[in-house]
Amino acid sequence: MPLHVPRLRLHDTAGAATSPLPHGDGELSVFGCAPLPDTAPHIGHLTQFVGTDVLRRTLHWLGTPTRFLLAVPDIAAPAPAPTPTGGVPWAATAQAGAVRSRTEQNSAALHADLLAVGVLPPEQRPTSTSVGPVIDLVRSLEQAGFTYRLATGVYFDTGRLSEFEVFGDPGPELRALRAGAEPDPRRRHPDDFALWHLEDWRDLHAKRWASPWGPGRPGWHVGCSAVAATLGPTVGVHVGSESQRHHHHLAEIAQSEAVLPRGTRWVGHWMHHALLPTDSGALSRYRGAPSLASLRRSGFHPLAFRLLLLRSHYRARPSFTVEALSRAQGTLVRLAALARSARLPAPPGWAEARERTGEGPAAELLRRFTEALTDDLDTATALAVLEEALHEPHRDPGGFVASAADQVLGLQLSTADALVPTPG
Ligand SMILES: [Zn+2]
Repeated sequence: MPLHVPRLRLHDTAGAATSPLPHGDGELSVFGCAPLPDTAPHIGHLTQFVGTDVLRRTLHWLGTPTRFLLAVPDIAAPAPAPTPTGGVPWAATAQAGAVRSRTEQNSAALHADLLAVGVLPPEQRPTSTSVGPVIDLVRSLEQAGFTYRLATGVYFDTGRLSEFEVFGDPGPELRALRAGAEPDPRRRHPDDFALWHLEDWRDLHAKRWASPWGPGRPGWHVGCSAVAATLGPTVGVHVGSESQRHHHHLAEIAQSEAVLPRGTRWVGHWMHHALLPTDSGALSRYRGAPSLASLRRSGFHPLAFRLLLLRSHYRARPSFTVEALSRAQGTLVRLAALARSARLPAPPGWAEARERTGEGPAAELLRRFTEALTDDLDTATALAVLEEALHEPHRDPGGFVASAADQVLGLQLSTADALVPTPG
């Protein structure tokens, strides 16, 4: 009798309900937006990608390949105001070169940090957003009647939509913040957002491209929809953080669905990760958040940070303190020692693990591990099962549950180098 592979049930923020992902029919596309590369990455940026990584690893384990595309919004990143260039195009100046190289450095640092915390590289990654597809998308929106022009740019007309707030009421504070991000008061509706800026409304932005509407630059949101279209007209799972939900992602939905056949949902499941709080309050994208490098300098292994995140559900804010990170590092070191002395086998996929564990206590551990992850990625319970399997090896005689669990949770217990770094 063929094994019945369990399905992963994931919470969808747009429907506020948990439902099975459509796996089993080939690969599932996953789309995420990287942070703006105008600042160096910090651990708050890494949080959402660890959750996304567990999603992908769980799907791979259950036999569904993913195609993950991480959009790097480099054309929307702020650049300093240009100094007079004496007729030389700004893009050709040394100042523009410095901005480009800083953007590239920040992007490279993000990808290095993601690898260090055990995030599998995206299957599909554009090195940068190009402006051509952005202009094409804005033209399509214009032809479909979803835009209007003001002296400052081309705007998306949210009044043309039957529904804009698909994630529920953001509350007055967020709504005001969102409206304030677009400073042109002549917009028809406070939710309308720029698709193309004709004027340099922030001194910080100085990059310009030629366009059918005149020289300018793309709006903040439109690049993501243009890049996501390379995955196909629709996306299986769109991942992101709660801070992107009521603004950036609503804009993405509006502009992506406007060019799809009426009534088509652009995204199957919206997976929003809670922000990482710190001792001094919620972590903002701007300042004061520690980098992974600074945690390393304090003697912490990047995978200890991963383990700390796994202790919380991705939709609940994890408790991030130095004490919690120290405890996570202690657990990581203990589990790694157990995994290494157990000489775990190569990680089996779900079907192989199910076969190898038979009907004994290992089957029970496997069942609990599978149920936890397929129930909206309950990583805390899944991690507890991994700890049980390693602490009580007689319940997992072949080590198949521990090996599979280590692979799916991405802790690399048997293989990670320098699991205990020397404090520097
Ligand atoms: Zn985006």
